[in-house]
Amino acid sequence: MTTPVNKVVYAVYGASGFGRGVMPLARAQLKSQLDAEMYDLVFIDDGERADIVNGHQVYDFDQFLALDASEKYVSIAIANSQIREKLINKLQQHQIGSWSIIAPTVIQMDDVQIGEGAVLCHHVHLTSNIRIGQFFHANYFSYVAHDCVIGDYVTFAPSVQCNGNVHIGDHAYIGAGAILRQGTPDRPLIIGEGAIIGMGAVVTRDVAAHTTVVGNPARILTAYPSGS
Ligand code: UDP
Repeated sequence: MTTPVNKVVYAVYGASGFGRGVMPLARAQLKSQLDAEMYDLVFIDDGERADIVNGHQVYDFDQFLALDASEKYVSIAIANSQIREKLINKLQQHQIGSWSIIAPTVIQMDDVQIGEGAVLCHHVHLTSNIRIGQFFHANYFSYVAHDCVIGDYVTFAPSVQCNGNVHIGDHAYIGAGAILRQGTPDRPLIIGEGAIIGMGAVVTRDVAAHTTVVGNPARILTAYPSGS
C-alpha cells in the first residue's frame, strides 16, 4: 500500500451510485490539469466493497490514511449531507483537504461564489450573482438562476430547476426534477435548513426548516417536529 513518494493522492469518498458517477469527472479533471505520474486517483469507502471499482483502487478510511503520499485531497461523493458533514469533520481532524470536482460542461456566469468541496456534474448551469456554501452537490442538468443564496451541504438531485432569488438553508435536499418558483429581491422564496423537496415537486411557497414537501403545487408531507 505504498504510493511513490511525492505523488499526490486524490480520492472520491463513496464508491456507490453517486461516487461511481463522479469518478469519471474526477478522472477527466485531473487528466486535464496534471501529468499522470504526479498523482493517483482512488476511491474511499468504509462499507462492503470490491478492491477495485471501475479501474480504481478502493480503500477504507484507515487504509487511505496509511497511504504514503506527499499530499492527499478528498471529494465526498455521497448524497446524504449529514454523512458528508461527518466525513468532512473526520478529514479535517486529520488535516486532509478537500477538492472540488467540476465537469467541463458546467457553465458559470458572472459573480458566482461557491465554497470548497463542491461537486458539479455535467450540464450544471449557474447563472449570475449567486452565493453557494461549502460541499454543495449539483447533479447533472441542474441549474441555479440569478441572485440565489445557497447554504452549506446542500444537495441537488438531477435536473433541479432553481429559479432566481431563491434562498436555501444548510443541508436542504432538492429531489430530481423539482422546480423552485422564483422569488423577488425583497421577497425571496425560502427553503429552510434541512428541508426535503420531493422529486418532481413544484414549490410555489416557502418551505419551513426540516419539512418535507411533495407534489404540484408542493404540499407538506412531513412537518417538523414530525407529526405537527
Ligand atoms: N459510506 C462510507 N462511509 C460512511 C458512510 C457511507 O464509506 O461513513 C459509503 C457507503 O459504504 C456507500 C456510500 O458511502 O458505499 C453511499 O452510497 P449510497 O448508495 O448510500 O449513496 P449515494 O451514492 O447515492 O450517495
